[in-house]
Amino acid sequence: LKKKARAYDKAAREVKLAAVLGAGIMGGGIAYQSALKGTPILMKDIREEGIQAGLAEASKLLGKRVEKGRLTPEKMAEALNAIRPTMSYGDFANVDIVVEAVVENPRVKKAVLAEVEAQVREDAIIASNTSTISISLLAEALERPQNFCGMHFFNPVHMMPLVEVIRGEKTSEQAIATTVAYAKKMGKSPVVVNDCPGFLVNRVLFPYFGGFARLVSAGVDFVRVDKVMEKFGWPMGPAYLMDVVGIDTAHHARDVMAEGFPERMKDARKTAVDALYEANRLGQKNGKGFYVYE
Ligand code: NAD
Repeated sequence: LKKKARAYDKAAREVKLAAVLGAGIMGGGIAYQSALKGTPILMKDIREEGIQAGLAEASKLLGKRVEKGRLTPEKMAEALNAIRPTMSYGDFANVDIVVEAVVENPRVKKAVLAEVEAQVREDAIIASNTSTISISLLAEALERPQNFCGMHFFNPVHMMPLVEVIRGEKTSEQAIATTVAYAKKMGKSPVVVNDCPGFLVNRVLFPYFGGFARLVSAGVDFVRVDKVMEKFGWPMGPAYLMDVVGIDTAHHARDVMAEGFPERMKDARKTAVDALYEANRLGQKNGKGFYVYE
């Protein structure tokens, strides 16, 4: 493993400027973490409110670090300046890596990836923060699939150490090495995994969500399941976790998993998550999901 890590260190290209597409829960967190650890980052969204929310979140997190004495006000200003909000591809010709973090929908992601590929240098790395969608499938949209891989952060980005770096069929070693190095520079613990729907973590997590959905369908109160799982030792139960993730994201990711593993996921549709999604109860992002947030 050490040998492999050294080989990655050697093959990696330095990331001097990054970009993130989407300034939502994940994009905002990625921008914050990159800026905090010294890599300036362009943060692009198609909605002005998205950008404002991303900046507000970064500012709140940095403010907390200053309050706790873990960051000087000067460093906070520096980190905030390192996040460059934009609604256009203006400076993308200078970026070394782009992390795509838009909605969990293969069609939308493919369109966005092809669009950004046309804006960046030929040697720039493009990485997707998809939770579940196969990297080789997304790569079909690209002219340079060798420069593309997965870079899957977990929520909340500033607290969760793990990043899955996913190798698609055509991903080059340099793309993997550069993404691993960028994740490390962000203070994260990258793990390189092979490609399939859900990669490693979500292949473990979705059967757990499936078990939870079956209990709820059988009439068990979701609050009770959450409380039991907390007593078991998990930081939060499955219902609360899905509210944090976003019911829309959990719903789309579940569809990708159900398509990828039809046999294993055959009773995964028409669950409480579908009912919440149809009622536009998207979790913490809009104040109502399994729980109601004031
Ligand atoms: P979100 O809904 O909070 O944010 C998505 C953002 O993308 C929105 O602000 C939207 O305006 C923007 N967007 C849409 N189309 C765009 C485009 N063409 N260009 C730029 N911006 C665009 O979603 P999220 O929870 O941040 O999820 C984003 C991605 O990260 C998804 O693929 C999701 O599966 C993945 N992910 C989510 C979590 C989680 O817990 N929420 C964890 C890991 C990975």
